[in-house]
Amino acid sequence: MGNCRSTSIPPLLNPNTNEISVGEKEKADLLNSYFCNISISSDDGVTPPDLPLRTQHSLDIDEITEDEIKDILKSLEIGKASGEDCTSISHQMLKYTSNSVCVPLSFIFNCSMRTSKFPSCWKDANVLAFFKKGDKSTVSNYCPIALNNLNKIYLAYILPLLEYACELWDRCCVRDSEKIERLQFEAARIITGLPQFASIESLLFETGWETLSSRRNRRKLCLFHKIHRNNVIEYLMDCISNYTEDNYYNTRNRSHYRVPRCRLDIFSKSFFPSSIRAWNLLPLDIRSIQSSPNFKNTIRRNDISFLVPKYYFIGNRMENILHTKLRHRCSPLKADLYRVNLVNDPSCECGCPLEDSIHFFLECPLYINFRNQFFKNIQHLADISIEHILFGTDEITVEQNTILFRNVHSYIRHTKRFFD
Ligand SMILES: [Zn+2]
Repeated sequence: MGNCRSTSIPPLLNPNTNEISVGEKEKADLLNSYFCNISISSDDGVTPPDLPLRTQHSLDIDEITEDEIKDILKSLEIGKASGEDCTSISHQMLKYTSNSVCVPLSFIFNCSMRTSKFPSCWKDANVLAFFKKGDKSTVSNYCPIALNNLNKIYLAYILPLLEYACELWDRCCVRDSEKIERLQFEAARIITGLPQFASIESLLFETGWETLSSRRNRRKLCLFHKIHRNNVIEYLMDCISNYTEDNYYNTRNRSHYRVPRCRLDIFSKSFFPSSIRAWNLLPLDIRSIQSSPNFKNTIRRNDISFLVPKYYFIGNRMENILHTKLRHRCSPLKADLYRVNLVNDPSCECGCPLEDSIHFFLECPLYINFRNQFFKNIQHLADISIEHILFGTDEITVEQNTILFRNVHSYIRHTKRFFD
């Protein structure tokens, strides 16, 4: 909380001293100590009851191997967010050092599993104080949310619900499939702040998500891979024997399966027929991958063409949302509103007939002083163009893009075009 940037939190009442805290640091300290307090488990040192064992079986969790970690590190996408703070190791570094860094990492992970301890530095996060309801000056009316957590909450808690047993119900009708897809787009709108009229492409671009239907296809392939490798419970392995070719044991291509004849659409879309069709289309080298994580990573890599850069998530949420809206021509600029018939006139207050993002960032005489400063701050980073201002560029580092984006946010703030 030391680097508090928001000024939207009003003076807070210190519940211990009954004094009002006004300064940003004082308020941040107050919220921080409150959040720490409510996170402590209050078991009062009571030992848990001695529950009788109901089974003699134990759950064995295999050690994580160096090769598994290496596979995962090698599949990291360069440029993707690597963590909550700027001191975290970049994906590029992890990828290039995967051969050696997998050794200490496997030691740390296995040690953590064996001792049931979670390294405390992994619990550090940049935290936002999120106002719940009631009196804004009361500390207990705020709850802590780590930055980018809306995205993480969706991925960790909502998405698994939308995908529960989806390998089975993926044969559902188009209408139901579209209905659940719309739910994900709604979540994307909430997270990105993009308006209703933003396109689906914009939502997927900003979140880096795939459509649920393409995720389901991949999950089915992953399950099929496990069945193929005899890595599942027996009754599933029995099922697949119905689909092996007669000359299965003689053919040099043992990974090819027979697509069953389907009279009904609902059977054709069910797990085995649809997965077998997708499986038979996979290149042989992918079908022959042995480890499940490696298979999953390989087909995911082939699927996703774009990953959201880390710097798309930085800064104050309001400014970040405005930047996102400008990127997708969904902003409150007159030309953007005119495009979707929300205003009759696309012209700028300065008299220019078209107030679009090019005009706002590069031309409008109303903001000339802010623009001069803005250009001075970014001209050493990259060529000044509307593409670079809105999207950043691969030609410079993630850190330089972050500085560029912070300056864009600062320009948006100083012009007061969107808020006072
Ligand atoms: Zn203008």
